[in-house]
Amino acid sequence: MAQSRSSSREAPRGRTRRTSTSRSRAAPQQDGKPKKTRSRSSSFRERFEGTTVDKAMSGITRGIKSLLASKPSALSDCPKHGAPECLSCMCSIDINGKVTKDGSKIDLRYKVDEPQEVAIDPKFGEQARFDPLRDPHMRSRLNAESAYTNQEKAPASFKTPSRRWFSYCSSCNVTFLVGLAGNMAADDHPSHVATNMGARSICAYVDATSWEDSQKTLGGNSSVFFGPGSKYNALSDNVYDLKHHLSIQFAALRRALRLALTILDHRHALVEKHGLSNSYKFLWEYCTQFRFVVFSRMEAVNHWLNLDRAATGQGQLDPWVETEVLKIDEDVANLAAQGIEVKIFTLPAFEKYEPEYEFFYDRFI
Ligand SMILES: [Zn+2]
Ligand SMILES: [Zn+2]
Repeated sequence: MAQSRSSSREAPRGRTRRTSTSRSRAAPQQDGKPKKTRSRSSSFRERFEGTTVDKAMSGITRGIKSLLASKPSALSDCPKHGAPECLSCMCSIDINGKVTKDGSKIDLRYKVDEPQEVAIDPKFGEQARFDPLRDPHMRSRLNAESAYTNQEKAPASFKTPSRRWFSYCSSCNVTFLVGLAGNMAADDHPSHVATNMGARSICAYVDATSWEDSQKTLGGNSSVFFGPGSKYNALSDNVYDLKHHLSIQFAALRRALRLALTILDHRHALVEKHGLSNSYKFLWEYCTQFRFVVFSRMEAVNHWLNLDRAATGQGQLDPWVETEVLKIDEDVANLAAQGIEVKIFTLPAFEKYEPEYEFFYDRFI
């Protein structure tokens, strides 16, 4: 589970603000004449060379140099946040302590021979419902509890999806959830984290429609939307002779789940290219993994969320529908084996979305 996985890991260091260490720009030459060779530092040296102050200064310099040499993290602090381990910049050289003492031979590539430990317990049905009021990516636990007990007082922005929830990356071709860590973290390519613990969620909108023609045959089409212009967007052709009006919906959901696996493969390649660490765990678990949050108004999704797994075969649903629901369970279990947790948010089945659902208006632009 994501929570237990997070708690078992060493908490990443928080972002630290670093005062600028870059050298101030040289003063512009006013008259175009060559600079004087006698610099302020040389006059300083001349004045204090051999003095007690000079000895003290060089002692301090030596101390700083040896400190830097003994502290390997100083060699690979992330340039933006100044932290030796940064989930936004995907750099970590010491998470598993695999660094050389002098820092000179650090292998910044992950070790492919380390075992994968990414599998999580799959969650089915109600356990997989995406509840923004309690979601650990969107609310701190304390705020979530108070929002939940005062639902009518909870901010509307946490009840219904809006653009503010999402950040689309045209390089990754997917939409990330903007979580507790805020917009800048969600926008930051390629990490796109939602929380300070480095968790992220990739979102997709899944929809399908079906119709009956004059010969009473069923037709339909479906769409999986990962964001404006995403190469993963999948709009099906019209399909005819459907066995059941829900079959196009189950097919759309399964297609989305398969696409999540493709995105995971691509994310592995991306992290391999951008991540700086000698830790397989850091790169392949913390920088690569994501939750997959499906937004949908399809009836099939409600069947998947509502089925009581302990009472299958007892007439809860049409046997064919129940079989399809259990096929989705298999796909969800396959994703869990790869470390991906599936969450589902059910949208009201409006013919036309209300303004708060505007994020979904412009699908397939
Ligand atoms: Zn950083
Ligand atoms: Zn990106």
